[in-house]
Amino acid sequence: MFAKLVCSTMGHQINRHRVWHDSVDYRTRCERCGSELIRAAEGWREYDGAEQAEERLPHPRERKQA
Ligand SMILES: [Zn+2]
Repeated sequence: MFAKLVCSTMGHQINRHRVWHDSVDYRTRCERCGSELIRAAEGWREYDGAEQAEERLPHPRERKQA
């Protein structure tokens, strides 16, 4: 996919207005390729969906209203 190729050379494209917090780290989705991203100490990186998953909340729009 072309978007992935651009991201691998230029880096992912972050929309700061779409960043949210999952109770562990900041998360967003790349505007260009749609990859799930997580903010690590060194910067944004791809999130595989497995690490510490039980501690993380889903995106606010996917949370059930109490
Ligand atoms: Zn990307």
